[in-house]
Amino acid sequence: MRNDCLFCGIADGDIPSTQVHADELVVAFRDIAPKAPVHVLVIPREHVASAAHVTVDNGALLARMFTVASQVARADGVAESGYRLVSNVGADAGQSVGHLHLHVMGGRLFSWPPG
Ligand code: AMP
Repeated sequence: MRNDCLFCGIADGDIPSTQVHADELVVAFRDIAPKAPVHVLVIPREHVASAAHVTVDNGALLARMFTVASQVARADGVAESGYRLVSNVGADAGQSVGHLHLHVMGGRLFSWPPG
């Protein structure tokens, strides 16, 4: 937990969120400004600054994040139609919160490459 981190606050329940999943490793909640009909963020409870800060010791954590992402996609009805998983790293990619998160986005068509 980092006191100055928004997503640590959400994981700890100190900052409100619309939670859709929680376990001992990860929390998932709806994005406050959704960019798609389904837009959920999956985060580790542990503070990891970004995907660039992941180490080999985070293997179980990453597996859980991807497992929960697919559960969210199924629960929100986009597993069959398809969905996008995104993890922005750094300023050029548009990372705005310095705590690792996986965007689970679906319910509309996405272009490729992303803008
Ligand atoms: P990124 O820009 O990739 O770092 O993604 C951060 C995401 O967090 C954005 O999509 C924001 O809309 C979302 N966000 C910021 N604050 C909150 C919050 N309090 N609750 C839920 N989502 C948030």
